Order: sequence, then C-alpha cells, then structure tokens
Amino acid sequence: MSYPGPVPPSQARERVGPWMDLFSKLIYPLACRSCDQALLPEGAGDGLHRWLCGRCLNDLVRVESPYCENCGEPFEGAISGAFTCGNCSGRRFAFDFAISRFRSEGPVRELIHDFKYGHDLSLRSVLGQLIQEVLDDPRLQSEQLGEWVLVPVPLHRSRLRQRGFNQSAEICRALSRETGIPTLDALSRSRQTDAQASLHRADRLENLRNAFVLRRPWFGAAPNLRERKVLLVDDVLTTGATTHECAKVLKRDGGAEKVVVITVARG
Ligand SMILES: [Zn+2]
Ligand SMILES: [Zn+2]
Repeated sequence: MSYPGPVPPSQARERVGPWMDLFSKLIYPLACRSCDQALLPEGAGDGLHRWLCGRCLNDLVRVESPYCENCGEPFEGAISGAFTCGNCSGRRFAFDFAISRFRSEGPVRELIHDFKYGHDLSLRSVLGQLIQEVLDDPRLQSEQLGEWVLVPVPLHRSRLRQRGFNQSAEICRALSRETGIPTLDALSRSRQTDAQASLHRADRLENLRNAFVLRRPWFGAAPNLRERKVLLVDDVLTTGATTHECAKVLKRDGGAEKVVVITVARG
C-alpha cells in the first residue's frame, strides 16, 4: 500500500480552518476525548495516544479476523479462509467490499454519538485517526491509494441544516489530511428518507432506492469517476443498504471502477 502521507501542516491549516482547531485545543487542552481524563503533555504521544487515554485505548474493540469478506461483519469463533455472513447471503452489493475497524461499542460508540448528536465537530480528528486503521487491510495493502479518491456518504440538505455538518464529509477531510488521499464530494442526497432503524430489511432497501445522485455543480460537469477507484466513507456501517445505493450511483452513473466502503465502526 502507498499513499502520499500527511498533508504538510501549512497546507492542512488552510484546508481545515485553523480557528476551529485552535478553539478545540483551548477547550480540551490535554484531556482524553472520550473520558476527559488528563493526558500526557502534547508531543509525548503519537497516533491515537494524542487523543485517548490508556484506559480508553484498551477499551477499543477492533473487528478482528475472521470477518465477512463482503460486509465486514465479524464472526465469533474460528473459520479458516474467506466466508460470507448471513446478512450477505443471497445479496449482491454494488460495492466491492466493506471494512470497519472497530465495533460500535465503548469509547468508539460514545465518540460517534457525541460527534453526531452532541454536534462536537472537534472530534473529527480522532475519528479520522481511528478510520485510518482500515487502510491496513490486506486487500488494500497492494493498492496505490494515492491514486484513489475518498467520497463521503452525503446528507440531505434538511438534515445538514439540522446537524450543521456532514459527519462523513468531516471524517473524510480528517483522513485526507492524515494520508494525502484526495477527497471528492461526488454524491448528493436527492430526498430525505425515513429513519432506517425503524424499517425491516426489504423496506430499508425500498426506502433508499434512488435517494442518491451524482452531485451536479451549478457550473461545469458532474464529477468524472471513470476508471477511478473510490473509498466510500461513512461513520458506521449497519446493514450496508445506504452504502450499497451510493456505490450503485458511483459505478452506474459515475463510471467508478471499484468502490470499497470504509467506516469507523460496525454497528
Ligand atoms: Zn479516556
Ligand atoms: Zn456480510
């Protein structure tokens, strides 16, 4: 695997808004972003140590092998070789495969909840750091990821107004800053859909049908993804119905060659 590497700090500052990051440092100078316990002085830690205390780092639950080769669902027990889970049997996803690095429990669950529903935008950096671990997946190791593109799952504009930001787009930007892989805001959500959690599987698929389109700018052409490889980014993957619909549009309408779904957590 290779990707361009972190964006130099001078460029990163221009892209992410220096005041927002400075503001978050002033509020949380040296505290664990999950439990607020004091951290070592800045600079003593790197990677996730910059954001989380030792106890919270220990409480992270990673999705370890064996997991479903399609949707990333972990399997309790021993299996040798590739396998497909019950969620995927009889289904063909439009994405090539999905990978989540953490289970949606403990600190990861709380961080995502505070990010989305507590509107704590400053958590995007730690979530960007967490999702970066999916790039260690053996299936991505041989790829030139610098030639891929990160695409966020879009929010409908009414939800965007309500939340103030798109959590997937913010995680995308943080990951892009860490890795140098470019981001392309290629999709938009053409209609608001009912809450997926309240629906049965067949209704979920119907609910999302044609909910996504390629983003059409006011001026110029729609994004050209022809023969591009895409990392489709979301915070949590549950059934895969949303990312399936997004991948369908990226391939059918955008011409993408490959779409791999990456999420921070597996719900
Ligand atoms: Zn902690
Ligand atoms: Zn599966």
